[in-house]
Amino acid sequence: MDTKAFKRSLQSSENYHRKGFGHAEEVAGMLKSEYESHLIQEIRANNYTLKRGDVTIRLAEAFGFCWGVERAVAMAYETREHFPTEKIWITNEIIHNPSVNQRLREMEVGFIPVEAGIKDFSIVNPGDVVILPAFGASVQEMQLLDEKGCKIVDTTCPWVTKVWNTVEKHKKKDYTSIVHGKYNHEETIATSSFAGKYLIVLNLQQAEYVCNYILNGGNRDEFMSKFGKSYSVGFDPDLDLERVGIANQTTMLKTETEQIGKLLERAMMKKYGPDRLNEHFQSFNTICDATQERQDAMLNLVEEKLDLMVVIGGYNSSNTTHLQEIAIERQIPSYHIDSSDRLGPGNRIEHKPLGQGLEVTENWLPSRPLTIGVTSGASTPDKVVEDTIEKILAISLPVAV
Ligand code: SF4
Repeated sequence: MDTKAFKRSLQSSENYHRKGFGHAEEVAGMLKSEYESHLIQEIRANNYTLKRGDVTIRLAEAFGFCWGVERAVAMAYETREHFPTEKIWITNEIIHNPSVNQRLREMEVGFIPVEAGIKDFSIVNPGDVVILPAFGASVQEMQLLDEKGCKIVDTTCPWVTKVWNTVEKHKKKDYTSIVHGKYNHEETIATSSFAGKYLIVLNLQQAEYVCNYILNGGNRDEFMSKFGKSYSVGFDPDLDLERVGIANQTTMLKTETEQIGKLLERAMMKKYGPDRLNEHFQSFNTICDATQERQDAMLNLVEEKLDLMVVIGGYNSSNTTHLQEIAIERQIPSYHIDSSDRLGPGNRIEHKPLGQGLEVTENWLPSRPLTIGVTSGASTPDKVVEDTIEKILAISLPVAV
């Protein structure tokens, strides 16, 4: 499919909407009352610090809702206002935050059911309104919804669209896109649907393996089974790694994306020489600003003397797990939770250690004095951070100090 031509034609359709519907003001009021927090504003104004007795909370200087998420949630609210009686669907979680998704359910926005990993669009009828979430949707989904005659409200973050444009450029010049990301993350699924030839690498080790294959060759079968679900149909490592372009899921660890880019650049330079590098390698920075700012703020925060870190965000939120990785690298005890309901009763926390299932830890808060670092991913409203801080204080200071 000519994905570029399809997108152009979709965008000119009267059924396609990617700007608001003129209800911005009323929606802004609703979002403010539902998701903002006085306490968090106070902490921000007080140098990101809250002191109660001998408990200190240190907030990262950039955390929580990013511009792209605010925009997507506002557009979803506006959609409900604009289409009060129509059936409204969303192809996936609007963002990776349980409270926001629950709120949309209450507003009677339906989530497309998933059976054995496959979305069942048969439930969607012509004329229904379908919202595409902040991390986008695959071109095949857009095509299907367009053919069904649905009204499409596209909240895809412009940073994600920038990555799609990058892989389109690779495709046009017959470069294979090397995408730093998670093959089963919605954003990467969408990105790869716009790419021509692609290979998804998860981390530095996989990138090193690819570079070694480029320089020294290797066992093709081993390569194919190692990258199982992470390449385009017909991809052949012996033919398709001669010209590569770098792209990424917008929420990966910035430093790792940069290192992966450098590794591949060096490999291509070694193989083809510096004069021919441009014929074999392309790179554009597509990590989004919000991800960079949150990771930089976390890197600053972990320089301080913290007893532990609490990282708040959806369990399937890529940018949140990368924040936790930074705490783990610094060997700071860290707890990833998706809502304040995971705290208590008493000194108990239900959390998700990196790469594992949910776990309960008793007596997780050590005795005072305590300094606790707090941050949250780009999909987490301030209200959830406030509720978490209040609960931490109630656990560590059961009697008012
Ligand atoms: S994290 Fe970045 S790419 Fe994702 S919605 Fe926010 S601004 Fe957009």
